[in-house]
Amino acid sequence: MKNFRRKFLKLLGLSYLSVVLLPYNLLYSATKKIINPKLTEEQKKIMFNESTERPFSSPLNNEKRKGFFHCVNCGAKLFASNAKFDSGTGWPSFTESLPGAFKTKIDYSFGMRRIEYHCANCGAHHGHIFDDGPGSTGKRFCNNGLCLIFKPES
Ligand SMILES: [Zn+2]
Repeated sequence: MKNFRRKFLKLLGLSYLSVVLLPYNLLYSATKKIINPKLTEEQKKIMFNESTERPFSSPLNNEKRKGFFHCVNCGAKLFASNAKFDSGTGWPSFTESLPGAFKTKIDYSFGMRRIEYHCANCGAHHGHIFDDGPGSTGKRFCNNGLCLIFKPES
């Protein structure tokens, strides 16, 4: 009897999990879309196959002008230049995003548990959020430079 109860509870737990996860996965794949026809293979790999660019490869690492960083796929405004900082990691890094710019998901790849974030508008993968940022948020948004377009303030 005890065994049966345990099995039942386990089953209940599993179905609860799938109820929670299923709508998210459906929603997630539904929002993922290629909008910019000029995306390169490398950009598509990062944005839609969760790949990562080589560190220190992005010219945006050295971008220090005032302005905004937009999603290269859909053009959504994601970061303000005042949130950018030099993390020394080799990827453009930000202490915070603009409100509602991203949706997050837990990524268990490479034996790590990381928070992965995606453009809320087009679903494109941009990077990971870490808890070692220097600002008041304590966050570090580690973004692939190839996913961003910088538009200087005019
Ligand atoms: Zn986007």
